[in-house]
Amino acid sequence: MVRHDWTKEEILAIYNKPLMELMYEAATIHRKHHNPNQVQVSTLLSIKTGGCPEDCGYCPQAARYHTDIEGNDLMSINQVKAQALRAKSSGSSRVCMGAAWRNVKDGEEFDQVLEMVRTINKLDMEVCCTLGMLTENQAQRLAEAGLYAYNHNLDSSEEYYKEVISTRGYEDRLKTLANVRKTNVTVCSGGIIGMGEKIEDRAGMLVALTTLNPQPESVPINALVPVEGTPLEEQQPVSIWEMIRMIATTRIVMPETQVRLSAGRTQMSKEGQAMCFFAGANSIFAGDKLLTTPNPDVNEDMELFKELGLQPMEPFVKKEKPQSVEAGASQFNPKGEKPKWSRPGHTIERNEEAKQKAKMKKQEVE
Ligand code: SF4
Repeated sequence: MVRHDWTKEEILAIYNKPLMELMYEAATIHRKHHNPNQVQVSTLLSIKTGGCPEDCGYCPQAARYHTDIEGNDLMSINQVKAQALRAKSSGSSRVCMGAAWRNVKDGEEFDQVLEMVRTINKLDMEVCCTLGMLTENQAQRLAEAGLYAYNHNLDSSEEYYKEVISTRGYEDRLKTLANVRKTNVTVCSGGIIGMGEKIEDRAGMLVALTTLNPQPESVPINALVPVEGTPLEEQQPVSIWEMIRMIATTRIVMPETQVRLSAGRTQMSKEGQAMCFFAGANSIFAGDKLLTTPNPDVNEDMELFKELGLQPMEPFVKKEKPQSVEAGASQFNPKGEKPKWSRPGHTIERNEEAKQKAKMKKQEVE
């Protein structure tokens, strides 16, 4: 049974169980709801990198911090198609396109993204997008183009979110997820551990995700990859034990969800990753980059799958392929409603410090 009334205390009690018991319970639930030898493989493609106006403390794509990433404008449809075909030939069933935007703006660039969605859907691959905040009309247009999933992470608990991001509120995240839910697009939403949050915040995030009805079809669990120049550059990496606990707890409270072992896999041993699969992870990102941070090489992943007897999952196993409506036949207004997103505007000291440091570095160079 899927429960939507988990309390923080109940989730903490699960998270803190003796590890062997926790893993056994999670593995048992995993086997009841999923084929334990199948793992869904997604390829994450950064279709527009860098220059983002937001101040997410973990993100090298925020324009205000000084990082070494190379920004690029929106990719062409042909570039995206070529990358999707490459991903398909190496075993990915899903392409997830990420753009470093605060929110989607109606206009030429969004129309181009919609065309990318149609193009990949026609390749018989699941298409996911992560483009920032979305209005209901934009969610409907993505659905009509054939989008399979929309990713919008809650990142952490509502309380800790304010310590990491000041340029938008938790309620904006929930609003976007609600807009996606009004369509037939599936929801992908998870978070990051290792940002300095307490275990209570990890439990708080899981409360927020489990309360959603239906629960997200997919939940990525990321371990922070600290990037020089960002406010979280000095965070210590989380231990594999914390990652296993988080994966197992997520599996127990969201039994039907695909739990994605996401960023931070390069810091994990093969044995550590195997334990995460045992504890209920059944999805990964493939490809040597996760937007801008490193990820294991796809051949290494396939070797590990072989070693463990795992198979990449075929596309459209959980839900049938959506139909793509061509742009000319759309029933939605290309200029939809004007959204009202919040700007909480509180100050986060370490984000401000990173911003000042970046300014000084820029002046030194000039
Ligand atoms: S996480 Fe997304 S919204 Fe936040 S700064 Fe990075 S690209 Fe922008």
